[in-house]
Amino acid sequence: MRQIIYADNAATTKLDNEAFEAMIPWLTEEYANPSQPYFFSKKPKMAIKKARETIAECIGAEPEQIFFTSGGTESDNWAIKCYGCSPGDVRVIATSAIEHHAVLNACKNLDKIHSVVYLPVDKNGLVSPIELEKVFDWRDKPICTCMTFFSSVMFANNEIGTIQPIKELAEAAHNKGACFHTDAVQAIGHIPINVKELGVDLLSASAHKFNGPKGVGFLYDSGYHIYPHNDGGSQEDGRRAGTENVAGIVGMAVALKKNCDSLEKNQHHLALLENHLLTRLSLSGLDFVRNGAENHLPGLLSLSFNKCDGEMLLHRLDLMGICVSTGAACDTKRTQVSHVLKAIGLEDRYARGTIRISLGKDNTIEDCDAIVDGLVKILKGN
Ligand code: PLP
Repeated sequence: MRQIIYADNAATTKLDNEAFEAMIPWLTEEYANPSQPYFFSKKPKMAIKKARETIAECIGAEPEQIFFTSGGTESDNWAIKCYGCSPGDVRVIATSAIEHHAVLNACKNLDKIHSVVYLPVDKNGLVSPIELEKVFDWRDKPICTCMTFFSSVMFANNEIGTIQPIKELAEAAHNKGACFHTDAVQAIGHIPINVKELGVDLLSASAHKFNGPKGVGFLYDSGYHIYPHNDGGSQEDGRRAGTENVAGIVGMAVALKKNCDSLEKNQHHLALLENHLLTRLSLSGLDFVRNGAENHLPGLLSLSFNKCDGEMLLHRLDLMGICVSTGAACDTKRTQVSHVLKAIGLEDRYARGTIRISLGKDNTIEDCDAIVDGLVKILKGN
């Protein structure tokens, strides 16, 4: 197989070996449905219980606050569409202009019947807690008695890596009686997260972003008891019906625990790689800017090259065996400038030449050298 340098860890990560090993029994001999009353079902039932406890511990939650889903998209949709949705409810929803499409499109679906506000961001992609609070000034002059207030701001942006002031945003929402959801898909397993300390009400996560398997994730619900979005059996406390993905859930818990146990080590390694790559790139004399805030996801570099074509860079790097992206993985069919780069007001001559390099814990200094060498070769022809 061709040697690959994988630098697109924000799109997905490699499944951890221990997580894979832990999944095997539930895909082979231990195939019983965890909901059955007989002895054969006892082990998968216990495996789910243990995974729930492990995941809760990793984020400072209680096990009964963790609800398994099929991934980030489902968790986001569940939180947004099912919060406060009794018939007749009027909802005021605040979100940001730079959310993932799982959040933006879920909100778009609701804005025909509810009031949705898309908060702007500053040039670094930061949402202002003061602006968030202002959205819910409606609380003081309600148009009906059954209004509910909801907010959703992502923990860390998937294109530029900016980490939001989540604690302050949650406080701002709570000041006006609004529920606060955060899409933490890019952040969980990469930076420390304690849901109680941060005061978030709902949080979405996806296993494949932290070296777990694809097609599994979870929603943390602090106690809002949001409405079920799947009608059916009594799995997940009757709120998310459907036979559990036992292997996926077990693999997710092992991967999350492993990442959380080595957070500092991984962060340190990624900071070294980032510095090396940026120093070498700066010395090359190429005209580029780095997007995002000072406080950003470890290893995520959104780089915009002056008067260049990001698509072209991606494909030329691909020919060299290097995987990067131009933005969000699920957005590659759209070739225009992304909504995130537009929202931070990046000049068009830079925005069109943007690539996202997202390094992971397995990347090396040699990988960074190969990426810089590749970019210099493409852009300078040497
Ligand atoms: N939210 C963010 C911030 C993401 O980056 C992604 C995936 O890229 C998702 C949600 C969707 O997650 P999943 O692929 O598990 O559905």
